[in-house]
Amino acid sequence: MEVDDEGRARCPDCGEFAVETMVSPLTGSLIRRGPCCENCQRKRDEAEKAKEKERALAKARYRRENIETLMGRAGVSKRYLGCSLDNYRGKVPDRRPAFITGPPGIGKTHLAVAYLREDLLAHGEEHCRFLRTVDLLKSIRDSFDDRSGDSEKRLLDYYGARVPFLVLDDLGAEKVSDFVLQTLYDLLDRRYGECLDTLITSNLTLEELAVHYLGHGDRLASRIAGMGPTLILRGKDRRWQG
Ligand SMILES: [Zn+2]
Repeated sequence: MEVDDEGRARCPDCGEFAVETMVSPLTGSLIRRGPCCENCQRKRDEAEKAKEKERALAKARYRRENIETLMGRAGVSKRYLGCSLDNYRGKVPDRRPAFITGPPGIGKTHLAVAYLREDLLAHGEEHCRFLRTVDLLKSIRDSFDDRSGDSEKRLLDYYGARVPFLVLDDLGAEKVSDFVLQTLYDLLDRRYGECLDTLITSNLTLEELAVHYLGHGDRLASRIAGMGPTLILRGKDRRWQG
């Protein structure tokens, strides 16, 4: 190691005598105290930061340019790929609801998909999934064919604990059974416990859902109510609950 009068070694990168050195108390030999000189380190940090920013920008650009592909992969069907907050016909709420209720055709799914689009743009495709409630229940029921119960557990683990933002569309349209009620409750309770965001749409109100599930839906309805604000769409009239 080449050292100047002040005990500083030559930096291998810039060639300046700038690397702090010290004599090792154990071996008596000269050792470097830093990885490089401060100047080079600063330049390296700045370059790394610029690269990181570049990567983030590239990622955001990729998401914007491929948003419909990403939405499709997240589970949104073709019909709804164009849905965004910008082209939503109603007034866009100032916060994202956890439950949207209203009659068919009023734009519940449009709004839910629009929030999913925002989430995808902000966080990327691993962050969110869109599921019709009937499809979720069907895939869980189909997983029973695997007798071990592993795949059912895997599905509940995945949707219950690993998807940060889940849209569950059209709750209440499925055929009611104890299995359905228990599965939905388990899933939502799990997500609630994991502090994950869920957005549910339904033609039924929370009060109607409570009755819908064989009269045992009140637990489910109160779990949903606890997950965040409810948005009620009713023609041009909309109001918040919770
Ligand atoms: Zn240097």
